[in-house]
Amino acid sequence: MFEMIALPYNMNDLEPYVSQQTFEYHYGKHYKNYVDTLNKLIAGTEFENMTLEEIIKAVYGKPEYQAIFNNAGQVFNHQFFWHSMKPNGGGKPNAKLLKQIEEQFGSYEDFAKEFKNTAISQFGSGWAWLVSDDRGLKIIKTANADTPIAHGQIPIIGIDVWEHAYYLDYQNRRSDFIDVFLNNLVNWPQI
Ligand code: MN
Repeated sequence: MFEMIALPYNMNDLEPYVSQQTFEYHYGKHYKNYVDTLNKLIAGTEFENMTLEEIIKAVYGKPEYQAIFNNAGQVFNHQFFWHSMKPNGGGKPNAKLLKQIEEQFGSYEDFAKEFKNTAISQFGSGWAWLVSDDRGLKIIKTANADTPIAHGQIPIIGIDVWEHAYYLDYQNRRSDFIDVFLNNLVNWPQI
């Protein structure tokens, strides 16, 4: 059984960039539904006592477990996304991570441009990520519930670009939401 994780801030702490109303729906209804549905799907199965990551890796690519993958992936992705934002966030990461980004992408500005383009170009629902794998840093997008950890990649930051993540605050302007994420919200990990 999985429980919802607590948000690492209050629902109105990210205003005016993400409204309390968005969190009431996104955290309180969408995320809750993924957790509840996952619990129903795994009850009494071989997956019942696995960690989220173990479940995702065990069911990835198996059509008979698509519903479990979708809900487990969305639970993981949302929990990661909640922690990818913070009040008074945004801007560049610490010096060590910034150096890695500059080595990989040329400059922070080039990174931000590619991240934004990747997030905009995810057709339909999905996610954009900065990940690391055995070849270094990479910007990727994943569709629907797909998640970097299914592909052996370690997420560093991730943004939800399903419409439910931004429509109440930005309507169809996904581009504005991505700008705000990078400039005002992103919570870079301390690595
Ligand atoms: Mn979402």
